[in-house]
Amino acid sequence: MFNPEIEQLPFEKLRRLQNERLMETISRVYENVPFYKEVFDKAGLKPGEIKGVQDLHRIPFTKKSDLRDNYPFALFAEPMEKILRIHASSGTTGKPTVVGYNKSDLDVFDEVVARSLVCAGAKKGMKLHNAYGYGLFTGGLGMHGGATRLGMSVIPVSGGMTDRQLLLLQDFQPEVICCTPSYALTLGEEFKKRGIEIEDLNLKYAVLGAEPWTETVRKEVEKRMGVVATNIYGLSEIMGPGVSQEDFEERGTGSYVWEDHFFPEIVDKDTGEPLPNGKEGVLVFTTLTKQAMPLLRYWTNDICSLNYDPDGKRTHIKMSTIRGRADDMLIIRGVNLFHTQVEVLLEDHDELSANYQLIVTRESTMDQVKLEVEVANSRIDNQKNESIPDLQAALSRKIKNNIGLTMEVEIKDPETIPRSEGGKLSRINDKRG
Ligand code: ADP
Repeated sequence: MFNPEIEQLPFEKLRRLQNERLMETISRVYENVPFYKEVFDKAGLKPGEIKGVQDLHRIPFTKKSDLRDNYPFALFAEPMEKILRIHASSGTTGKPTVVGYNKSDLDVFDEVVARSLVCAGAKKGMKLHNAYGYGLFTGGLGMHGGATRLGMSVIPVSGGMTDRQLLLLQDFQPEVICCTPSYALTLGEEFKKRGIEIEDLNLKYAVLGAEPWTETVRKEVEKRMGVVATNIYGLSEIMGPGVSQEDFEERGTGSYVWEDHFFPEIVDKDTGEPLPNGKEGVLVFTTLTKQAMPLLRYWTNDICSLNYDPDGKRTHIKMSTIRGRADDMLIIRGVNLFHTQVEVLLEDHDELSANYQLIVTRESTMDQVKLEVEVANSRIDNQKNESIPDLQAALSRKIKNNIGLTMEVEIKDPETIPRSEGGKLSRINDKRG
């Protein structure tokens, strides 16, 4: 553990720390950010009335649109001369949102990423092949700082240029790689294509995040790269990567949220009402130590649930894997659908690869969705060819039984479906216009 004292802090003490930090954050934003002063005044709320996280529900949410309305710097709570770095979201869903960090924030960023790397299996002295994009995106620089803090040798490859990545993975022999799960699939596939054996590499751990993924992808990445793969979650608005991290020995049980810095809530996606642990809803974060740009009750739009794990090594709460973003949810003939729901159903099909996409079309007024997925083999032999219609029908039945949707399934030849070329990959191809 990187910081055992904090990572194993007993619940009562953690709560006390959160409450103190929350009250400091609230006075900071009320005094320094006109947007928040207005939020409080409009709600008829005095900063002193919030005595702890139990009162958070009284504060209105901060949404992505508030960041856009205050573009670029109006939410900063510090003068520009204190701002040491500026990042912006990758803009997957529109105009970028801008965030700033002062010295203390960058220090916390390094700390939570260092914690996350250790949680993922990494150790001081190992080499980190960092294939997250460097630049405005927080992934590259965020992982870089945390790995440096931990004492790893960082190889700042950034995303893309797959040939270069393969060369360095073989020649530099890093033990740890971080990238998006879809890019890990691309790299794993290239190993196979070029006859690079797992034994030619020295990889042990993969730290994957920045997009939703499931056990189906984990299984494939672990097999192809010879690694233990864990989930790292984060978003630029709250910090960047390292808001939460899955432990390499507790895979499948959720990712620890570094609760001493980021307070999570789950709320109903329609009413905004707080939901109890275990219930799925929208993840909302309040930053507890951010100084340059603290956010109160930030609506991430990511759908998941929260739970304490009494058997876990740490006391912090765990979040489940993200099902998807609320605005990426498809509604097909009245049925709500996230692409990850289809992805999990591919897990037990060794004859299929984890390369798939959902094609959404509209015929007259009816929305249709079709699953396209590639066969795993590099060549479909005759026998396989014959069984493809059966497999398509079986998968279609499985989707109907599990999700309640009639979905056409097309099993496609290898290398016919888009792959990640280094960053995030959209699994939905929406042709509705
Ligand atoms: P953008 O919103 O432009 O993609 P970011 O690059 O900050 O901005 O990405 C943050 C978002 O990426 C999160 O809100 C979430 O939707 C997604 N994300 C990050 N990590 C994960 C993860 N481990 N699992 C699922 N989704 C993730």
